[in-house]
Amino acid sequence: MPLCFDLDGTLGTFGGGYALLREALGELWGAAPTREELRACAGSTDWEIVDELHRLRFGGGLAEEAYLAFEAACLARFEAAFHPEVQDPVRFEGIVEGLHRLVDRGHQVWLVSGNTPRTLAFKAARLGIDPRVPRLGSLPGLSRAGLIRKALEGCAGPHLYVGDRPHDREAASEAGVPFLGIGDAVEGAHPVLGAEAEAERLVHAVEGLVAPHLNSRLHP
Ligand SMILES: [Mg+2]
Repeated sequence: MPLCFDLDGTLGTFGGGYALLREALGELWGAAPTREELRACAGSTDWEIVDELHRLRFGGGLAEEAYLAFEAACLARFEAAFHPEVQDPVRFEGIVEGLHRLVDRGHQVWLVSGNTPRTLAFKAARLGIDPRVPRLGSLPGLSRAGLIRKALEGCAGPHLYVGDRPHDREAASEAGVPFLGIGDAVEGAHPVLGAEAEAERLVHAVEGLVAPHLNSRLHP
């Protein structure tokens, strides 16, 4: 029963992420994509975004080795910008504590994020996410919904995706899992918690969302 959490904007924030992404591509491609080009990307994962920008710039899709080179360049920038002696990310204390309580209560909890896998590992460590929580970052050829489906493979439901943006809600819907929003950037009929919500509120909201599905499985 994976309870899947997005990272950026959901568990905390690393400001300036898109600037670092543009810088990394500038180093690799000779010139950084413009803000407008980045904003025009339809995808929400790093693979989708960099692949889309690569098609725009070079007329063809991104090779896996080129994605790994991007990952290394991007990670180096995050490691420098968010070195403990430079600055700390903002950590949503109650949400992260609630995530850890869900783990302690026996739930399977995953991070499913649009960051490249190594950048996700770095960010999760900087936010102090328990290493028992598997990390699933952006992989070649997979959309966010594809990543969610990959996390659910071989696991019985109920499942859940927790995120902060419309693309998270849409990916949850495409993957057929319920959605819990964090913050006010994601509108819709789903439940929402503020980024400052306390741990117990997260636990209560998550267990309230998955319990009816559990009961219907047990008592169809
Ligand atoms: Mg996010």
